[in-house]
Amino acid sequence: MTILHPHPNLQKLELEHRQLEQHILWSLQHSSNTDDGKLYHLLLQIPPQLWPESLSRYCPSFVATARHRLEKVQAAISQIKLGIYGVCADCEAQIEAERLACDPATQRCKVCAAKAQDIPPELPF
Ligand SMILES: [Zn+2]
Repeated sequence: MTILHPHPNLQKLELEHRQLEQHILWSLQHSSNTDDGKLYHLLLQIPPQLWPESLSRYCPSFVATARHRLEKVQAAISQIKLGIYGVCADCEAQIEAERLACDPATQRCKVCAAKAQDIPPELPF
């Protein structure tokens, strides 16, 4: 399938993906921990699409944030390629354009994001 009009956010996401890759590699390369060094060499040998799987087995805390972000960015890139980008993961409504402009990897609309992030404890009534 040919994508005639790739979403304008694709370039932004691909750029962020490359920056995350570099950040993860750089951090691992400069760690004095032997396991981090092994992970660095492993990641060099596999395509970045497979990184989340390796990082789910072993991930030093200093790359945890970048790993989480990498997964979100990868998901958004595949959604663009599949033509299902910008659809809320929870309610399947179109995600607001301003939310996507602010974070092109966002997976939820305003209402569902609010629900997912600040669910108050179960009320007794
Ligand atoms: Zn929603």
